Amino acid sequence: MTNLQQKDRQYIASTYARFPVEIATGKGSEVYDTNGKRYIDMGSGIGVTSFGIADDAWVAAVSAQLGRVQHMSNLYYTEPCANLAEMLCEKTGMSKVFFSNSGAEANECAIKVARKYAAEHKGADCYTIVTLENSFHGRTLTTLAATGQDHYHELFRPLTPGFVHVPAGDMDALRALCESTKVAAVMIECIRGEGGVLPLEAEYAKALGEFVREQDILLIVDEVQTGNGRTGAMYAYMNFGLTPDIVSTAKGLGGGLPLGATLLSAKVENTLGFGDHGSTFGGNPIACAGACSVVSRIDDALLADVRRKGELVRSMLQGAKGIESISGMGLMLGIKTEKPAGEVVRACMARGVLALTAKDKVRLLPALNIPDDILAEAVSVIKEVCAQ
Ligand SMILES: *Cc1c(COP(=O)(O)O)cnc(C)c1O
Repeated sequence: MTNLQQKDRQYIASTYARFPVEIATGKGSEVYDTNGKRYIDMGSGIGVTSFGIADDAWVAAVSAQLGRVQHMSNLYYTEPCANLAEMLCEKTGMSKVFFSNSGAEANECAIKVARKYAAEHKGADCYTIVTLENSFHGRTLTTLAATGQDHYHELFRPLTPGFVHVPAGDMDALRALCESTKVAAVMIECIRGEGGVLPLEAEYAKALGEFVREQDILLIVDEVQTGNGRTGAMYAYMNFGLTPDIVSTAKGLGGGLPLGATLLSAKVENTLGFGDHGSTFGGNPIACAGACSVVSRIDDALLADVRRKGELVRSMLQGAKGIESISGMGLMLGIKTEKPAGEVVRACMARGVLALTAKDKVRLLPALNIPDDILAEAVSVIKEVCAQ
């Protein structure tokens, strides 16, 4: 083991089973380890570096803000967060934004808004939030409670009460639950990322959207992983024709700096008042300046290119030896392989390709602007590894 790996193991809490790779530097979709070995980055920091490593426009935006003011607290106005909020509202038709620092916090805000709205409009006993089995909504005690995967819960009870999980695709289960329980909100991922890159069936999404509207139940869409162009739409709910009341996002929004956002529709825009919620770092000017650079580039041409690149990956892998199926949308792809996904990822790593797993799938979340030739090079490696 190298000195770095020894030091890391000695001093950093052992929550991460890191691969023995020390990343030193990178550019775009290529990174280099401390030995100078090149890797193609097919994970982009779990969908965070939307335009790749050290992207010139993002670096320029962040650096310019760094020389002006790095932080001022939310007691004062600063320009980057207002500009970013305006851009997000214009691209979605949502009315207001609350900024935080991570996906879990963006979901915490969404949950607080839903609880307060329901308490005010439907009574104090209306607080239950329904989420889907196999969902992932974060690691705080409340977002863990929202996460529909028991194995994350076991060691940390009691969790925040008021969350119930239903199987995705089962409208009867959702209807029955809403008859027996007062439900404040339904919270979904359009494509469950950590759960195995599992898109909702289009008909189920449509029926769910209509049902919650009829029942005056709020719809929260967790776009932490699927958002900001990842699926070939600005937000994945747009692929499903849904009209959420609240949208949470993070990961790719900041392009590499910590930033979460909770988008509020006109219906709930004034639910939170002065003092109801806050975040010391939320809306940080540097993170928001970087995010403005990211969001300003997510236009129709970029989204069409994300869909095209996704098709390129599919066309190379579809029907190939050792590949069972491909799920996902745009550049959020899950590959079911004959070999265990972890084995494929390790073999790819040895051959200079960094990929992710999600449950039993190999998961790809490359930068939205990954050049076609580099993308094809990485997919060829994955294809060869799966065929062996
Ligand atoms: C990653 C993720 C989260 C948690 O985000 P953090 O920034 O790690 O708190 C929440 N929801 C979804 C769908 C995610 O993929």
